[in-house]
Amino acid sequence: MRIVIIGNGVAATTAAATIRHYDTESSLTMLSDEGTPFYSRPRLIEYLAGTASFEKIVIRDSAWYEKNKITLLRDAKVDRVNPARHEVIGNFGTITYDALLIASGAAPALPAFFVPGLEGVFTLRTKSDADAIIAEAARVKSAIVIGGGLLGIETANALAGRGLVPTVVEYFDRLLPRQLDAEAAAILQSMLEAKGLRILLGKTTISIARESGEVAVRFADGSSLSAGMAIVSAGVRPTTAFLRKAGIVLGKGIIVDERMHTSAPDIFAAGDCAEFKGILYGIWTAAKEQGEVAGRAITGQTVEYRGSLMSARLKVAGIEVASMGDIALTANTRVESARDDSSFKKLFFENNRLKGAILIGVAVADQFKLQREMELPTPH
Ligand SMILES: Cc1cc2nc3c(=O)[nH]c(=O)nc-3n(C[C@H](O)[C@H](O)[C@H](O)COP(=O)(O)OP(=O)(O)OC[C@H]3O[C@@H](n4cnc5c(N)ncnc54)[C@H](O)[C@@H]3O)c2cc1C
Repeated sequence: MRIVIIGNGVAATTAAATIRHYDTESSLTMLSDEGTPFYSRPRLIEYLAGTASFEKIVIRDSAWYEKNKITLLRDAKVDRVNPARHEVIGNFGTITYDALLIASGAAPALPAFFVPGLEGVFTLRTKSDADAIIAEAARVKSAIVIGGGLLGIETANALAGRGLVPTVVEYFDRLLPRQLDAEAAAILQSMLEAKGLRILLGKTTISIARESGEVAVRFADGSSLSAGMAIVSAGVRPTTAFLRKAGIVLGKGIIVDERMHTSAPDIFAAGDCAEFKGILYGIWTAAKEQGEVAGRAITGQTVEYRGSLMSARLKVAGIEVASMGDIALTANTRVESARDDSSFKKLFFENNRLKGAILIGVAVADQFKLQREMELPTPH
């Protein structure tokens, strides 16, 4: 069998390792439009901060691909997939598959105000994005990070580590709007501000322009802010543009079933590009779990994906925050919370079952115990 995987991230490499666990004979080709071996995307933050070299964040070196008889084509960009002819077409030519896994991940969302190519404005997803930010950071003294989510806060902190003065601007009236409630967000904000981070909330960015050698950001309330550089961190979008004419059913991402199978014969999808039961997870653990399910399905094993637990962890400037599960308040939600000087814990129950948690400070030590209590739906 000829197995082709588009991608070389955690979903793709987990699938490849799983495939090799069950099948040592099939040919296995991985295609990545990045020029790197598999590295930890979350640890790009350490690379950006200058606290880890690139070698330190590489997870699979060339020896791993060789040992597992995997052909990795780097700088190989897929332009289209032809499901009828079982072909993948790109700058490497045409490759025919018997089974195809699409693990193309996601790319930074580009809001309407984003001006492609504007000097001094960046997004962060890949090593080459980080390299471009590092080069600019050496030339300027301040930065505006648009987006007060996990990535925005971590990016601002990394730039502070390089000696820049960063300001985080957030559209919502609180930080981490997807992971924290108002009370927890206020605690995090005061902790970050105490460490010197500037934070502006409730700011709708309407334009970015280059003015007097700086990046000028204007907001809907008439105010504006200038800095040496800006990083736009406004979420991610699944990478699916190369499938536009493939006829595979797309929603927000590539729609998959419990075996990570798409609507097209012999084509699977996993990770940030995949949408399962209306959910785009966008997190490392889910991409890994989906990659494993896809690998098992491709090799004909019995497997059923039931979803992953949403979880997020922030660790910056000695501050730790974890959020997991479902923290939405419904008429049936019971909340228990405890707070002291070093710790904040809020647990969300429904029908007497723990469904979500927010932890700050010392309480983060309970994260994995609580995750187990939530009876995680794990791949089977
Ligand atoms: C800086 C940063 C920090 C993060 N921190 C965290 C964290 O703390 N916790 C957490 O859970 N998640 C975090 N994430 C998100 C996490 O990294 C992703 O959820 C995860 O990497 C998704 O893995 P993936 O394999 O689905 O996709 P990706 O890692 O995006 O891999 C996609 C692959 O597809 C390839 N590709 C895409 N299009 C094409 C094409 N047309 N042709 C060929 N190849 C293509 C790419 O080259 C890449 O190899 C972070 C992300 C970033 C950027």
